[in-house]
Amino acid sequence: KITQYIEKAKGKTLFSIEIIPPVKGESIQNLMNNIDPLMEFKPPFIEVTYHREEYIEKVVDGRVTKIPTRKRPGTVGICSSLMQRYKVDAVPHVICGGFTKEETEDFLFDLHYLGIENVLVLRGDPIKGAAAFTPEKGGHAYASDLVEQVVNMNKGILLHEETESFPTNFCIGVAGYPEKHFEAPNFSTDFTYLKQKIELGADYIVTQMFFDNQKYFDFVNKCRAEGITVPIIPGLKPLTTKKQLTVLPRIFHLDMPEDLVNAAMDCKTDKDVKQVGIEWGIKQCKELIEFGAPILHFYTMGKSDNIRAIAEGIF
Ligand code: FAD
Repeated sequence: KITQYIEKAKGKTLFSIEIIPPVKGESIQNLMNNIDPLMEFKPPFIEVTYHREEYIEKVVDGRVTKIPTRKRPGTVGICSSLMQRYKVDAVPHVICGGFTKEETEDFLFDLHYLGIENVLVLRGDPIKGAAAFTPEKGGHAYASDLVEQVVNMNKGILLHEETESFPTNFCIGVAGYPEKHFEAPNFSTDFTYLKQKIELGADYIVTQMFFDNQKYFDFVNKCRAEGITVPIIPGLKPLTTKKQLTVLPRIFHLDMPEDLVNAAMDCKTDKDVKQVGIEWGIKQCKELIEFGAPILHFYTMGKSDNIRAIAEGIF
């Protein structure tokens, strides 16, 4: 369990990573080649994202037809493969989008039977191009509803209550946003819903990426002041290209600190930007360790050399 790893570490900051399954048809070997160099830093677990099938709607023979576009299947298979290959725990992301509650129940049983005991519970993003998130008919609209379902399964309660069930034993993580979730009208509303996820039974929080540590410090302090006592794991993504200076704020709704932007803008090549990102990452990590962050959790996004360079400077 993630919470047990943190307890056992007794205040020592751990290292962990999130990986993204390859696009359908790509080799798994590239993924493993990127994970291998990071195993030296002994991540107790690896998180694996889940990707809802994306599709476009086209009129075919006079009927609106859903045509699947890019797929990233394999979350469960990759979790199993990671557990065998590296003897680590794998933490699949479980999302509301695209699933009915029954399908979610079946999915969670697959995970349980594989020996997976941690899940990161999320709502999921809107489908590309869609203005808003639409839940599946008969599915969950918010991550909190899915937290409730997992908590019930941990008590042996299934959707159809007449069915008796052996209880599952999932440790539940949820997402938190130091810079506010983009749909929330204000931080306070977003915070209320985060608190709801914890009160319903979530065991830990993983944050959205941030580049300004003060945002994380303020977020943690606010959580503690409001009685949220669960571990809050900072999510980190080192800057690698100049383009990311505009892309990351657009996609992840975050602020880039002026010093980082200026340093990256002064670079002639992206190789230099990557170095700036590594130095910034090391500085961020040192401060986060000083603050008492339980784990430094890196979003690899298919790249590991920069994360390795940061980890070498830290661990
Ligand atoms: P929620 O907690 O449901 O919140 C969504 C919005 O609704 C927020 O604005 C919140 O304030 C509001 N809200 C919450 N509850 C209520 C309520 N009861 N009534 C009204 N408003 C409410 N996406 C993927 O598709 N796959 C992944 O693998 C994935 N991994 C991620 C990992 C991390 C660490 C993070 C931070 C995000 C990840 N995402 C992933 C993206 C995530 O799905 C999106 O950020 C999504 O838009 C919100 O998910 P959530 O779980 O925070 O949603």
